Amino acid sequence: MKPRLLVLSLGGTITMVPGAAGGITPGLGAAELFAAVPALAEVAEIEAVSPLRVASPSLTLADLVAVAGRIDAAFAADVAGAVVIQGTDTLEESAFLLDLLVAGDRPVVLTGAMRGADAPGADGPANLLAAARVAAAPAARALGALVVLNSDIHAARFVQKSHTALPSAFLSPLTGPLGAVIEGEPRFYVRVERRPTYALGDAEPAPVALVRCPMGDDTRLLQALGGLGYRGAVIEGMGAGHVHHDAAPLLGELAQTMPVVLASRVMTGPVFTRTYGYPGSEMDLLQRGLIAAGQLSGLKARLLSSVVLGAGGDRAAVAAAFAAYA
Ligand code: ASP
Repeated sequence: MKPRLLVLSLGGTITMVPGAAGGITPGLGAAELFAAVPALAEVAEIEAVSPLRVASPSLTLADLVAVAGRIDAAFAADVAGAVVIQGTDTLEESAFLLDLLVAGDRPVVLTGAMRGADAPGADGPANLLAAARVAAAPAARALGALVVLNSDIHAARFVQKSHTALPSAFLSPLTGPLGAVIEGEPRFYVRVERRPTYALGDAEPAPVALVRCPMGDDTRLLQALGGLGYRGAVIEGMGAGHVHHDAAPLLGELAQTMPVVLASRVMTGPVFTRTYGYPGSEMDLLQRGLIAAGQLSGLKARLLSSVVLGAGGDRAAVAAAFAAYA
């Protein structure tokens, strides 16, 4: 018997065709996408829904919380896996959010496309078929949310959009992909351990600011940050987690009022915790009360903070959550 899959289409380039006002815009739903991929019928019995048709910069955390709820309900009704179709611009964030929110072993696979549905060499159909094959595969269980594009299979916590245009845009710079879909079969070369998941119940993810530190900044954004209503902040420092020495006391004061997480603006690699001792260094900032993001990018550190705080966690809970990614 074929496995049952839930496929949710949220929009993105994979659904885009030329619009009346020029340029491509989200137009297709899941049913139209399937029509381009008859082989999907051999992979699984598919329940398809198209709750949104938007470009992914317009997705919200609440949208993805709702998606997680639909996936939970489907898994309770014996669906074997889920595929989420969306734009690539925010795909790594959606993937990590679902990684944090959907408990259990069943695969949640996100995919999209770098080329519009009617572009020559459109990559959407191949990506959708590969994603469905991964979602239906017993070997894909217990790996958390996965991202499948260009035949590569990535873990949600490592994957990053790394090019604006190429079908090979998705990379996991820290580790490489977990595997690939080859000859129609998902093959896993390495496995990752699941990290804790979180139940939001009726609560919403908390608003958490993400601020990148550029050279020569005069700290005016950091000075304003405490008064903007955020419940937490993530600072993308330079290198292994460093800021201008004038920013350090400001961040220390902010960390007395909300959890402040120290990530890096560098493409990949963990923030340090015990190497540099100058004012504005990672040791200085951690002593002032910041929390190290570990291996998570700023984008993903923001989501973890947001979910833990939304679920009712305090500063200690945020610190404990990040310890799992050290
Ligand atoms: N701007 C598009 C989106 O994220 C890009 C894509 O889908 O690849 O919706």
